[in-house]
Amino acid sequence: MLLKGRGARLLISSLLLVSGSVFAGVVKQKKIEAVPGEYIVRLKTNVAKISKAQLSQALGSSIKSTIPRLNLVVVKRASFETKSSALQALKSNPLVAIAEPNFIYKINRTPNDPLLSQLWGMKNLGQVDSGGGVGVAGVDIDVEKAWDIETGSSKMIVAVIDTGIDFNHPDLKDNLWTNQAEAAGIAGIDDDGNGVIDDIHGYNAITGTGDATDDHGHGSHCAGTIGAKGNDEKGIVGVNWDVQLMAVKFLDANGSGNLEDALKAIDYASRMGAKVLSNSWGGGEFSETLFEVIKNSNKLGSIFVAAAGNDASNNDTSPSYPASFEVENVFVVGAINNKGIMADFSNFGKKTVHISAPGVNIYSSTGGAYDSWSGTSMATPHVSGVAALLWAHEPQLTSLEVMQRLMQTAKPLAGLKNKTKTGGMVSAYNALTNTVPPPDPNDTSNWESVAADYASAMPYLPNSKVTTDVTLVGVEGIKDMALYFEKFDTEGNYDTLTIFDANGNTVQVISGNYDDSFSAVIPGNSAKLVFTSDGSVEKGGWKITKIAFRK
Ligand code: CA
Repeated sequence: MLLKGRGARLLISSLLLVSGSVFAGVVKQKKIEAVPGEYIVRLKTNVAKISKAQLSQALGSSIKSTIPRLNLVVVKRASFETKSSALQALKSNPLVAIAEPNFIYKINRTPNDPLLSQLWGMKNLGQVDSGGGVGVAGVDIDVEKAWDIETGSSKMIVAVIDTGIDFNHPDLKDNLWTNQAEAAGIAGIDDDGNGVIDDIHGYNAITGTGDATDDHGHGSHCAGTIGAKGNDEKGIVGVNWDVQLMAVKFLDANGSGNLEDALKAIDYASRMGAKVLSNSWGGGEFSETLFEVIKNSNKLGSIFVAAAGNDASNNDTSPSYPASFEVENVFVVGAINNKGIMADFSNFGKKTVHISAPGVNIYSSTGGAYDSWSGTSMATPHVSGVAALLWAHEPQLTSLEVMQRLMQTAKPLAGLKNKTKTGGMVSAYNALTNTVPPPDPNDTSNWESVAADYASAMPYLPNSKVTTDVTLVGVEGIKDMALYFEKFDTEGNYDTLTIFDANGNTVQVISGNYDDSFSAVIPGNSAKLVFTSDGSVEKGGWKITKIAFRK
């Protein structure tokens, strides 16, 4: 019984793209990986002024590389040394301010059936997607109407921080970012003096060169959703018909990369003028150095769009990085399917996941062709794309104003209630027209309500079974009601509250954490609650403080 909940909570996985085989709703074990023997170290003094030999001696480690711009050193230590003893040795060195593992970040790719080519995320007519699921018409990002207003700007730079971009893809090659100083410069020379030679369309943090060609496919897939060239009578169309896609590669041919290269990649994208940084990757634990480069991207006025993660877990209680960094420009995206329901694999979080977007069976450009993939990896570029489209139309907006606009104008979807901050999906049309959609009449938080007071023992007892009858009196003609749990904290899957309607039908079974949430809709004005607990782990219990109703 110790497996659930807290035991698994600090183990972070890195899957942002999922295969069809993991849709069963099974929470995969999160695994934190780091490059063996490698550590990222911030010195208290200026790294640039110290020779590698001196650094090596002072740190008692061999020096793999330095990142003078960020005042960081990457050290290598004996592989037999445990991670904790290496970190302890480094942190106790008086010269060292920060020492952390060189975490590994990943995408995880398995393509779905590529036969059907509908871009349901852009326009959902209720068509069947490539996984065979029948869609619900209108569950899309409303971009077709938005294109009557704005189709994007070739001035807007979006960095795809990923596996690179296929520079020769017919749908992408005309929308690549171009570093004019390098394009007009001399081959083999760092014409703009930014530390990278010939970085014409982007940067490869792994090799330190300007060759950010995609050797995997994932970055090109994300890039296609953001800005596959539109109105060109070929292939697909991105959210932006025109945009500058900056290829910033730190994930390798296997979709894997490390903290050292992630730091360089984000730093490059921020200082080279990308307004939107699209991040469909994850892994590691909290990293102070990654936190710092993201904070710097915020200072420079960009939005850091991050995939929520594919562990089917709650980011409010089990952080997933980089999505869970508390920086105001981090904008976190969950994935929904073509019915408007949160994807089985998608992480969620009422406090930490901002918005949702199409992320199941998404068709886009990859590896010289096209394919249909799933993941919060695929949801993220929809939001990056809409942010860029809005910014192209209203360039005076600040990054935080763009984020606020996307949140305020998100389309409410009943399936996202309590799953994200907005409870809605991104809408390009609403964002461009600043249309705040009407409240969802099926959302119980919009209903009239009366105060109520029903609660378990707090904490509750082991091996208990307690029945509570709830009846809403004093209001005539009630058709439906919903119970508001100010607190709900029980041992997930073991200590459960079952809600029955007046006819004895089960309405909902609640377990785990359900604070600040309404129950499902209960027909009529009365219900029976049965709370059962097992013999171990008693938590805080539950408390109902109001009942919402409609007539
Ligand atoms: Ca350069």
